[in-house]
Amino acid sequence: MAGLNLSKIKKSYGKIEVIHGVDLDIDDGEFVVFVGPSGCGKSTLLRMIAGLEETTSGQIDIGGRDVTHVDPAERGIAMVFQTYALYPHMTVEENVGFGLKMNKVPKEEIDEKVVRASDILKLGPYLKRKPKALSGGQRQRVAIGRAIVRGPEVFLFDEPLSNLDAELRLEMRVEIARLHKELGTTMIYVTHDQVEAMTLADKIVVLKDGLIEQVGAPLDLYENPDNKFVAGFIGSPAMNFISGEFKDGAITVNAIPGRSLKAEFKDNRSAGPISLGLRPEHIQTVSEPGNYNVDLVEELGGVSYIYLSTQSGEKIISEKSGRANVKIGESVSISFDPVHALYFDPESGLRCYSV
Ligand code: ADP
Ligand code: MG
Repeated sequence: MAGLNLSKIKKSYGKIEVIHGVDLDIDDGEFVVFVGPSGCGKSTLLRMIAGLEETTSGQIDIGGRDVTHVDPAERGIAMVFQTYALYPHMTVEENVGFGLKMNKVPKEEIDEKVVRASDILKLGPYLKRKPKALSGGQRQRVAIGRAIVRGPEVFLFDEPLSNLDAELRLEMRVEIARLHKELGTTMIYVTHDQVEAMTLADKIVVLKDGLIEQVGAPLDLYENPDNKFVAGFIGSPAMNFISGEFKDGAITVNAIPGRSLKAEFKDNRSAGPISLGLRPEHIQTVSEPGNYNVDLVEELGGVSYIYLSTQSGEKIISEKSGRANVKIGESVSISFDPVHALYFDPESGLRCYSV
């Protein structure tokens, strides 16, 4: 078992720097999820921790030991990838135990570890099968089994469920949560899946362009994003941004004439444009002609999403439980409780904290 400490780590490929100085502490036993848009550096960061990519500068400690330039095999980590990379000619049993066999671990010890891992992963009935006779989920379980038998201090997962269909993803997500509970080992998990990040993580790390935007517990990030990027990235459908004007201690919303919200900010900001952040569940569509046009309605049964736009092209999504009760093309108004509104500087994207 081990925690991690990343200090000022950077990565360049030739002259191009892709990780620009990341500082991060991960506690022993924590489940940490890296999220961010494609190309932001999630895999690179994970591979640097694994030792599969050289670290250009900075320091990586695992369990209090500087491993920045230590061989991957000596870091006490095991990594699970999106592609399972199983040996097709070997059985499940042989695949799971192969790494140990290569390391000349005695056969009895291998057998014991394989049985234990297959118990945890419910692979018992498939031990004699070859990978081609397994489902995608079972194959990914074998890949995880291969990681478990190594008894790592830290598990690293890079989008391990991306190749599975929706139903299997859900099943494997629950499995991975259970695995973490059972083993109590530190896990770092890369995903672009909102639900995986929200449900698995003790702590989410939001990355953008090779830098950390914010670190926090899932609901902290959801409720208290530091900036527009995090606000828009965490949550699905995403947070809505509505343009308003701040002046004389009050905010007016361009598309809702006649409404004014009292506001006082810590940064003593001067009058000017401000962006209101509101989650879909906090915006009500009102069937009264107004400045919003209904572009699309999605009724999922339990919940409906109403896609709205203003004449100036500002798009928002309003969530309603049950039926939508509005039609495409209808002109409507919106309402919201200002306690749910977050404010952002439209230029910098930074949160404007109220007094
Ligand atoms: P993510 O996993 O978040 O989608 P990556 O970590 O794979 O992103 O990539 C981060 C950035 O580093 C991207 O801009 C990518 O093009 C670049 N990159 C990754 N691997 C290499 C490489 N071997 N050579 C050059 N650039 C790379
Ligand atoms: Mg990646």
